[in-house]
Amino acid sequence: MHKRLAILGSTGSIGTQTLEIVSRYPDLFSVAALTAWSNADLLIEQARRFRPSTVVIGHEAHYGRLRDGLAGLGIEVLAGRDAFDTVATSEGVDTVVAAMVGFAGLRPTAAAVAAGREVALANKETLVVAGEMITKTASVTGSRLLPVDSEHSAIMQCINGEPENSVERIILTASGGPFRNTPAGKLIHVSPGEALRHPNWSMGSKITIDSATMMNKGLEVIEAHWLFGLTEEKIDVIIHPQSIIHSMVQFTDGSMKAQMGMPDMRMPIIYALTYPERVVTDLPRPSLLEIGSLTFEEPDLQRFRSLSLARAALTAGGNMPCALNAANEVAVAAFLQGRLGFLGIAGAVEYVLEKTMLSTEASMTAYEETDSRSRSLATEYISKTPKQ
Ligand code: NAD
Ligand code: MG
Repeated sequence: MHKRLAILGSTGSIGTQTLEIVSRYPDLFSVAALTAWSNADLLIEQARRFRPSTVVIGHEAHYGRLRDGLAGLGIEVLAGRDAFDTVATSEGVDTVVAAMVGFAGLRPTAAAVAAGREVALANKETLVVAGEMITKTASVTGSRLLPVDSEHSAIMQCINGEPENSVERIILTASGGPFRNTPAGKLIHVSPGEALRHPNWSMGSKITIDSATMMNKGLEVIEAHWLFGLTEEKIDVIIHPQSIIHSMVQFTDGSMKAQMGMPDMRMPIIYALTYPERVVTDLPRPSLLEIGSLTFEEPDLQRFRSLSLARAALTAGGNMPCALNAANEVAVAAFLQGRLGFLGIAGAVEYVLEKTMLSTEASMTAYEETDSRSRSLATEYISKTPKQ
C-alpha cells in the first residue's frame, strides 16, 4: 500500500502534521503535490524536502518567489486557484488531503471527488456547504471520503464492522473551548487573543475561533449528517473538557462505543490515510490513571448560539448551511481583525440566515451564488453593528 498524496493547504496546521506523518512512513506515502495560499517560504522548504512533482501557490503575487526558490529541481510550479483543481485531479495522485481552510476548499475537493480520487477530508466546510452535491458525486464516481476531523474519525472507528442500521444516535464530544465557564455577561468583551487560546488543541486561527463560539461543533453536526447519513436529531453534542473521548456511538441494542486517545490530530490523520489498516506509531498514549476522570456536561445553547444556528440551518436544508458558513467566515475574520465583537459572530450568522431565501439547487453555481450573497449580507451586518 503506497499512496501518492496531494496535500492541499500543506503549510497549515493539518498540512504540516500530514507532512510529519509522511516523513515517518516513507514506505507508505510520497508527496505528489503541495499547495498553499501565500506562505511561499514554507512551501519552498517543504518542496525541497519532499520533492513533489508539482507545487501550487494560490496568491499569484508569490509565484516569482516560489519559482525562483525551486529553480533547477524539476518541480512544476503553478499559481492561481484553477491550479488547485489541476493537482486535485492529477493522474499521479492517489489521495487528496483536503487541508485548506474555508469555502476555498470546496472547488478542488469537489474536483477530486468528481475525478474519483480518494479524499482525506479535513476541510469540513466542503461538506457543510455542499454535502448533498459531494456525497451524490462520490456515490457515482466511487470516491472515498475519509474524515480527518477527530470526532468523525472516532465515529468511523466505532461503526467500522457494525451492521447497517444498527446506529441509534451518535454523540459528538466538544471540549467547550476557552470560554466554557465564562459567564454570559463577560463574553461580550472577550478579545481575539483570549479566543485564540484553546485549552486542548493547537489549530489554525479560523477553527480555533469556531471552537470558542462552538460553531465548530455546529459545522461538525452538519459534517456528520453527510458522512454518516443521520438526521439532525440523531446527532447529539456533549461537552467533555478532557478531550480524551473523541466521540461515541449509541447502538440500537443499548450498547455504546467510545473512541479514545490523546488530543493529537496526527492520529486521525494517520487513520484516514491508512484506513482500514492500523500502523504502529510512537504517538503519546493516554494514561487513564493520570487523567483520573472523564467528565461530561450539557452544552449551554444560550451562551453558544452558533451551535443552535447550525442545527437550524441543517434542518432548514438546501443552501442554508452554505449561508451559515459564509456568514461565519466573514464574521470570524472581522472578529480577528477587531472589527466585530465576539457575540457579533452569532449575530452576523443569524442576520444572514434570516435574510437568505431557501434554495434546494445542489450545484457549484448555486453554492457560489449563496456564498457570495451571504458574504455581502454579513459585511452589511458588520458595518452597521457597533463593536462592543
Ligand atoms: P490553517 O489556517 O492552519 O491552514 C490552512 C491552509 O490552507 C494553509 O496551508 C493555507 O495556505 C491554505 N489556505 C488558506 N486560504 C486558502 C485559500 N483561499 N485557498 C487555498 N488555500 C488556502 O488551518 P487548519 O487548522 O490546518 O485547518 C484546515 C482545515 O482542517 C479546516 O477546514 C479546519 O476546520 C479543519 N480541521 C483542522 C483541525 C486542526 O487541528 N487544525 C482539526 C479538525 C479539522
Ligand atoms: Mg473536530
